[in-house]
Amino acid sequence: MTSANGETLIGRAAFIDDDGSPHTPGWLASTIAHERNIHIGQLYAVNPVDSGNNWANKGGGYHVNEIQAYDFEIRNASRFGISETELQTVIGRRNAAYDLIAIYPFYTARISSTAGSTGNNYWILPGCRRDRGTCIRRYRHAC
Ligand SMILES: [Zn+2]
Repeated sequence: MTSANGETLIGRAAFIDDDGSPHTPGWLASTIAHERNIHIGQLYAVNPVDSGNNWANKGGGYHVNEIQAYDFEIRNASRFGISETELQTVIGRRNAAYDLIAIYPFYTARISSTAGSTGNNYWILPGCRRDRGTCIRRYRHAC
C-alpha cells in the first residue's frame, strides 16, 4: 500500500497468496508497479484544470484510483510475467472496484466496464482528493 506521504509498504501479500502458495516474481513486480507507477503518480499528478493531485482516500475517487492501477497491471501482465491465475485475480479486483463506482454516473460515463481497457479518464472529482480531508458539499454525490 502507498501512503499519502509517498511511502510504499510491500507486505506479505506481494509474496504469498491467501492460500499460502508462493506468488510468481511477476506478481511482486506488478504489485510494485501498482503502488509506485500508478498510486505515486496519482499523488503527484497535476490536474490541468486546477493543479490539484489525483489521490483519493475514500468513495468513488478511491475506487477510480484502484481501477486505474488494476488496468495498468492487466495491460502489462505479460511484461511483468504474472500467471493466468494471478491475472484473473487482478481482473476480479478491477471488476469489484468497478461495481463500486456504479452509483457514480460521473465516473461510469468516463471509465469503461472492460478490465484493462484504454482511453479511460481517471481524473477524480476535486472534492474526493485526499488533501481535502472530507468531501465538500457540491461533490458529495460522487465521493
Ligand atoms: Zn491500489
